[in-house]
Amino acid sequence: MTLSPQVPPYKIPEYSLTGDLLAYLNCGLQYRYHNRGCLPPSRPIQLWFGEFIHSVMEEAFLQWKQDAQKKIFPWMWNPDIRNIEQEIGKRLRARGLIPPARIFCPYDSSYRRQGWCPDGKHPHKLIASRRAEEAINTWGVHLFPLIDSAEVRLKGIRDMPGSTGERRCDYYEITGIIDVISSVNLRNSLSGNLILHYMQRNPAVKKYIDSLKGPEYEIIVDYKGMGRPSLGDPRRTWTYHEWQILTYAWLRSQQPDARPVAAGIIFYLNELAPVRRDIRELRESVERGSTDVVPQGQDLDVVQSLGRNVPFPFLSREFREERSIRIIPMSEERVQASLHEFDTVVKNIESCVHLEVSGNGIRSSWPAQPLERMCTLCDFRTFCPHPDVSEYGESR
Ligand code: SF4
Ligand SMILES: [Zn+2]
Repeated sequence: MTLSPQVPPYKIPEYSLTGDLLAYLNCGLQYRYHNRGCLPPSRPIQLWFGEFIHSVMEEAFLQWKQDAQKKIFPWMWNPDIRNIEQEIGKRLRARGLIPPARIFCPYDSSYRRQGWCPDGKHPHKLIASRRAEEAINTWGVHLFPLIDSAEVRLKGIRDMPGSTGERRCDYYEITGIIDVISSVNLRNSLSGNLILHYMQRNPAVKKYIDSLKGPEYEIIVDYKGMGRPSLGDPRRTWTYHEWQILTYAWLRSQQPDARPVAAGIIFYLNELAPVRRDIRELRESVERGSTDVVPQGQDLDVVQSLGRNVPFPFLSREFREERSIRIIPMSEERVQASLHEFDTVVKNIESCVHLEVSGNGIRSSWPAQPLERMCTLCDFRTFCPHPDVSEYGESR
């Protein structure tokens, strides 16, 4: 009897929406080293805070669901929110994610030494804690009653772009994790809900909801541990975030239990507790006319004077709220356009892989996209062929 050789398994290339596609769009070369080379960043400030705030919001929602006492807002920072922060801080530390100095106090009151904090009187409400407190007390109160499911992992299959002869597979898999899927039933009274109020203020979303045949719809929610990107950001972050949400809507629509997605919401949580550097960036955006939510009256005075003689958090609650929420309307054309954009990104990544495995060096195969703000913090700037480190060079 002759044994036939086993056919190798057919493996479809998998692309994560944030880990691959958005990372490649940021800088192709940095993506190659970090994600495909599995090298963790050495100064993961954004990584730590992003993980921290996502986990804090998720844990806060679980406690809200299970404990009747937690239905009453605002929550006290200590002990309500502080206990969650400490637990999340420990979990992140176990995964090797250490909070950068002066961002988060990891100590409790029994610790008498100064450690990384301003003095020995722990716990300190440092910036990560201020943002967590604002996020829960501003948006948690309105968001938690709408949540249907959290941390929803989704996958979809797409045709591999490119002609048949040049592609290594006929399909690719696109994956994503939606922070929150909210479900709204128009038969239930949700008057006074600030999130629904912001949605109704958007004419395209209102029109979509008014045209629905059934009483139920969904909202896709994404938390971002960052400020609201400027419209003229050279990295096109504003546009990429929109593509991300529209693609989530497509992934969600593939699931049998999905209801119509009326809108996406991105919460830019740093806007709720800005530091002076954020105020300076906002002033620059206002001067360039490159932001969609502009300060008026007293908030404008604060921004122009860079928050001098004004106590933290500098800006009015209404303005911070408005800057921290972004509503993304849905339409089939815009969803398809985003999918097309990501197909092109996959095609470009596949071309880079092909170049590299054909014997071209890494630096010749992957495009470097220099931008000073990114390059000065990039671990690979010393051997990158085109780093933009003018500020770094001057300051040395
Ligand atoms: S130094 Fe700049 S251009 Fe080079 S890999 Fe890093 S981010 Fe990209
Ligand atoms: Zn401390």
